[in-house]
Amino acid sequence: MRNFPIYFGEIIKAKFLKRENRFIVTCSIHHNKTIKAHLPNPGRLWELLLPNSTLFISLCRMRNTTSYAARKTQYTVLAVQKDSSIVFLHTQLTNKVAKYLIEEKLLPPLTDADIVKEEISRGNSRFDFLLNENQQDHYLEVKSCTLFGNDVAMFPDAITERGKKHILELAQMGKNGVKCSILFLVHCLDVKWFMPDFHTDYDFSIALIKSRNYLNIAAVAIGWNPDLTISETIKPLEIPWGHIEKEAKDKGSYLLILRVDKKRRITIGKLGQLEFNKGCYIYVGSAMNSLRSRIERHVRKRKKVYWHIDYLLNNVEKIIPIPIRSSKRIECEIATALSTIMNQSHPGFGSSDCRCPTHLFYTRDNPLDMKSFHAVLQGFRMGHP
Ligand SMILES: [Zn+2]
Repeated sequence: MRNFPIYFGEIIKAKFLKRENRFIVTCSIHHNKTIKAHLPNPGRLWELLLPNSTLFISLCRMRNTTSYAARKTQYTVLAVQKDSSIVFLHTQLTNKVAKYLIEEKLLPPLTDADIVKEEISRGNSRFDFLLNENQQDHYLEVKSCTLFGNDVAMFPDAITERGKKHILELAQMGKNGVKCSILFLVHCLDVKWFMPDFHTDYDFSIALIKSRNYLNIAAVAIGWNPDLTISETIKPLEIPWGHIEKEAKDKGSYLLILRVDKKRRITIGKLGQLEFNKGCYIYVGSAMNSLRSRIERHVRKRKKVYWHIDYLLNNVEKIIPIPIRSSKRIECEIATALSTIMNQSHPGFGSSDCRCPTHLFYTRDNPLDMKSFHAVLQGFRMGHP
């Protein structure tokens, strides 16, 4: 590919150890030297930043990124290896990549467009590009997508109020006759479909679904080489709107990851007093009416006890809810899949109304650090037509 415009300087491979906060990771480089690096990506990146994952980091101080002095480390994370793919993580440079692809006429939906201006303000918002296409203004917002599995890419991987606001404003402009597009740039070629992540950000997804008559919504997959240039193949992705509209409802199943910091005995209703070990428990439930309010109820402190899980929730250190929206009730299928990768916990817990041995599972380590857990989760979350 000609003249790829971003120069990263020397690229070093590092071993991911820990995410300290949203924008700082700890990793080890040659001779086991431990360093901190800036992570220019606000997403959760759960399935990418697993312990010992290979990161591609740069020593180069790039322009258009948070200043070196402000972030107190000279290292910047550029990408991560996931199986055979290299996933580009630097969201602040995504627009440079998009600019290059537009200028080289490599993006299938935008081959007739020229860039007039970057970072264009309109109303209270700023959009990534103002394009000129057949003598017409065309506003373009680009989103960087790094969440994929099971042939599907999804966006966003964390709730994005800003993303929703962009969509609603673009749709309003579209209604007023202005040409507007949103482009999801997926950093992996190993996918066929793109969908909004209605599990993680329901409001964003509904906004996108409702806006689809007023703006162009496109997703394109690109691949990255080990020297962090873009591979030749550029692949438009299908957006299965029928499937998305059927599944993106406020109903389905959910997991609750519960962290217990020390061994304790807890009375669980009619099951009596049970012992819970230090570690993580995963509970599987479902709510075929109003999944969101069910999850909010579970996460709320000091609630009345009604289900088995309520007794436990009042006695744990941390609760991480994971919605799995779907048109069908699949909680027992999820429980069966979890039983293949972790220990079944107390018999009968949460499974009084079904044939499952239990709906509660135990693992000593954080399941979010387990590749097998993400494979199960993506198997249910990333269903496709
Ligand atoms: Zn069951």
